[in-house]
Amino acid sequence: MAQLAAQRAYIPKAEGSTPSRSTKRLELAWAAGFFDGEGYIGCMCSAPSKRGHTTQIAIPQAHPQVLERFVAAVGVGKVFGPYRARKKNWSTRWQVRIYGKDARAAIASLLPYLSDVKQRQAKRAVSCGTEA
Ligand SMILES: [Zn+2]
Repeated sequence: MAQLAAQRAYIPKAEGSTPSRSTKRLELAWAAGFFDGEGYIGCMCSAPSKRGHTTQIAIPQAHPQVLERFVAAVGVGKVFGPYRARKKNWSTRWQVRIYGKDARAAIASLLPYLSDVKQRQAKRAVSCGTEA
């Protein structure tokens, strides 16, 4: 056993098999910048359906690949679509939507990299309904 452990120490780690910690951080920073510009964050209670306090993240996008990268970076969520354009000059849309516990997990990962404005929106969305 000891010999095996010693041998293992000399085997170089395969590059790119699992993302390194710094790669993950880089991807999160990218995701936060992308979300800052393109994403929506809020609480479902402000939706017309009045569905109570559920944190919601949504990002509409013309290219699903960008959204797949976002989902991989934050580790939660799903890409929905394609949605047909409702007007002739609109492009087909894809959308990432994340709700509730998953949305709060994504926010927690992104928060340090978000702009002040988005951070305030995020904190308001997460704490919505919890204030007395
Ligand atoms: Zn609410």
